[in-house]
Amino acid sequence: KMPVPSDIEISQSYIPKPIDQVAREVGLLPDEVELYGQTKAKVHLSALKRLKNQPDGKYIVVTGITPTPLGEGKSTTTVGLVQALGAHLHQNVFACVRQPSQGPTFGIKGGAAGGGYCQVIPMEEFNLHLTGDIHAITAANNLVAAAVDARMFHELTQTDQALYNRLVPSDSGVRKFSDIQIRRLQKLGINKTDPMALTKEEVTLFVRLDIDPGTITWQRVLDTNDRFLRKITIGQSLTEKGFSRTAQFDITVSSEIMAVLALSDGLDDMKKRLGRMVVASNKKGEPVTTDDLGVTGALAVLMKDAIKPNLMQTLEGTPVFVHAGPFANIAHGNSSVLADKIALKLVGKDGFVVTEAGFGADIGMEKFFNIKCRYSGLRPHVVVLVATVRALKMHGGGPTVTAGVPLPKEYMEEDLQLLAKGCSNLNKQIQNARMFGVPVVVAVNAFKTDTKAETALVVQQAKEAGAFDAVVCTHWAEGGKGAVALAQAVQRASQTPSNFRFLYDVKLPVIDKIRIIAQQIYGARDIELLPEAQEKVALYTKQGFGNLPICMAKTHLSLSHDPEQKGAPTGFILPIRDIRASVGAGFLYPLVGTHARPSVL
Ligand code: ADP
Repeated sequence: KMPVPSDIEISQSYIPKPIDQVAREVGLLPDEVELYGQTKAKVHLSALKRLKNQPDGKYIVVTGITPTPLGEGKSTTTVGLVQALGAHLHQNVFACVRQPSQGPTFGIKGGAAGGGYCQVIPMEEFNLHLTGDIHAITAANNLVAAAVDARMFHELTQTDQALYNRLVPSDSGVRKFSDIQIRRLQKLGINKTDPMALTKEEVTLFVRLDIDPGTITWQRVLDTNDRFLRKITIGQSLTEKGFSRTAQFDITVSSEIMAVLALSDGLDDMKKRLGRMVVASNKKGEPVTTDDLGVTGALAVLMKDAIKPNLMQTLEGTPVFVHAGPFANIAHGNSSVLADKIALKLVGKDGFVVTEAGFGADIGMEKFFNIKCRYSGLRPHVVVLVATVRALKMHGGGPTVTAGVPLPKEYMEEDLQLLAKGCSNLNKQIQNARMFGVPVVVAVNAFKTDTKAETALVVQQAKEAGAFDAVVCTHWAEGGKGAVALAQAVQRASQTPSNFRFLYDVKLPVIDKIRIIAQQIYGARDIELLPEAQEKVALYTKQGFGNLPICMAKTHLSLSHDPEQKGAPTGFILPIRDIRASVGAGFLYPLVGTHARPSVL
């Protein structure tokens, strides 16, 4: 057999169809499509409105076992599965994937277009810039950051009247409140719409957000791993009169605005979420929001194009939506609700939408169900769980797998003992998926070093662990043809009744929700809240955010908080060192582990 060429060689050897042709093929009307060159287009949300009475297709989520640092082929399998269903079994299909961040793309992990003969093309367009959604998020995020610091500076250096003049400028003698300002006044209990009618006390209340600098949770962002910006001092120009403080840069895709984009189900909903984002507390301990800062309208305008899903195609010409893309360790790690919803309408009742949840089933999939499906109201029919022999050998005690270093010999030769031992992780991740009441199909993503006995062992173990089916796939080397058996298993599984349920009720106390995830999904004996986390539980409960779902920020390299713990560890105590709130996106995110958070830049 010919060796498989590199991903970029394969990608560049295919000529994509004009994207307006792809749009026509999936049933979009010309005025619903905005072309960005020949290979990318944005799709208007009006398509969703037009198709609202159309029944949804089958909804398939792709997840995986706990991966090695190299990734086990979820994106590749997502693309392989739609190529098999669409180009080989002639079903209506759509893949919904995340837009990659430049961080990993230029880092060790590389792009995220899939691999081998299963890719979204053109790869360069997909991996870099796309249609600028991530840049829009950077702009919007940093506008909020600038507004926070400028506001504190002005409040410290100016009189109430000067602040009032700045916030409600007089236009040839006429002052007017904006809608956002009227909302703020109502929140303060001031039911007045005439700017001249405010008392002196009311002016003070209105103009002073009184942000407590120690409580600021909003950071600046950049879509590059620029490690020297992780901790910085801002405000060092003389014009800032000594008001400097330490701050930090995070990676753009970890911005709450990315999560808002992913979870919004329309423009109005996005605007509401953008206005609810909490950036700090005031000196009385009350939350200060983006609405209070008065920037919601500007944010919505900056994000007006980003909210439209991006249409691309696979190597075999099947349609793909690329939209949103937070990481599943530090964020919720799923593509957008809107892309999934439009795709489900476009494929129709008998079609399939395959969407990908980041990293292992313990994080990306758990958040897919408990956060994304809770907000979207969509109910998945099948979970596809990607497993590889190499990752299972690592879980069985194989030597460390490091990106950029050749794999140790255990991974190049048959070793059934190591493999059998590592299937504890596969078993646990299958149980995790089954907890949500959805049938699980295991996709054994075959590598050329795998032996027949090895892949057969994984199939057998998966079935014993309760998978609906388990199939060896060769799509990376062969394209969609290599995933036809997987596609057929998915078709069969999608016919079985799904008894979907959430893992927890959002109304439970914050600590109970965290404990349920830790014990049931991770295998922990219990959780331990460090002092800062305890304070936050009290604060958020008091502020009225206790009913939000939970988005755990945890390593993707272990079911536990310790990346060295492979397999399916049990009996450990999961430490929670702090908790943050993404009130606009709609979740609380506990930081798991005892030391500094996972690097996000
Ligand atoms: P994930 O989405 O789980 O992180 P990817 O699909 O991005 O994983 O795959 C990670 C890398 O592994 C890619 O470079 C891809 O080309 C490669 N890869 C995936 N499957 C195979 C396979 N069966 N054989 C060889 N390389 C593979």
